[in-house]
Amino acid sequence: LKHVLAPANREVLAQFAWSNVLLGFDFDGTLAPIVSEPDRAALPPSTRRLLRSVANYYPCIVISGRSRSDVAKRLRGVGVHEIIGNHGIEPWHGTLRYRREVDRWRPLLERRLAAWRGIAIEDKRLSLALHYRHCRKRRQARAAILRAVQALGDIRVIHGKLVVNVLPRDAPHKGIALENALDRLRCDTAIYVGDDETDEDVFAMEDSGRFLGVHVGSKRASLASYRLRGQSEVNRLLRALIDLRRRCGRRDPGP
Ligand SMILES: [Mg+2]
Repeated sequence: LKHVLAPANREVLAQFAWSNVLLGFDFDGTLAPIVSEPDRAALPPSTRRLLRSVANYYPCIVISGRSRSDVAKRLRGVGVHEIIGNHGIEPWHGTLRYRREVDRWRPLLERRLAAWRGIAIEDKRLSLALHYRHCRKRRQARAAILRAVQALGDIRVIHGKLVVNVLPRDAPHKGIALENALDRLRCDTAIYVGDDETDEDVFAMEDSGRFLGVHVGSKRASLASYRLRGQSEVNRLLRALIDLRRRCGRRDPGP
């Protein structure tokens, strides 16, 4: 993966920035640093300031695994154009069917995992998140969760940090969510920045030439063509994006 801010790649970034581009960001681990208690995740003040300015120059969306309302309260006042929650599902027409599926799973999982102290089932309405960070035997807890969810049938499992997410198999993923947002906001291209397994669904669409994918993190292999070494570099990318639009003379309309 090439570093997106390396001088050699400046031209590519500029071409995208000067096109009719949509910016998409994951939340945790991308805009907000990973914290040990997910409920404490927040935008650092510097990122908040920069993102507010970026959102004045570009249409911006955030696509997160969190529920939409959860992300919305963390981004209040920033001015992003859309927030998409539940790994790309929310909002989505036809969500009632997914809601019913999730409603069916929940009591089954509660029963199967009742013996496990410390496992918390978070109901995000269109998906479930099974947290095992508070379990003493995390490896065994994770194995128990995987056994329990496999018995549900046609599901998609997404592994997170000390959490196993369970989604309806055919629900839209982040890549589909981004494509739909492109249509809705009438954009031609997209720059998408993310660090998760689910962000790979976006990066997988890169060969169309319409997407510039930026994977955040140095460890994992990714389908993205570009990377930032870590979440701490996201501010640099935001600054570069602001500079590129300032240079081509578009004025910041202000907050
Ligand atoms: Mg993330």
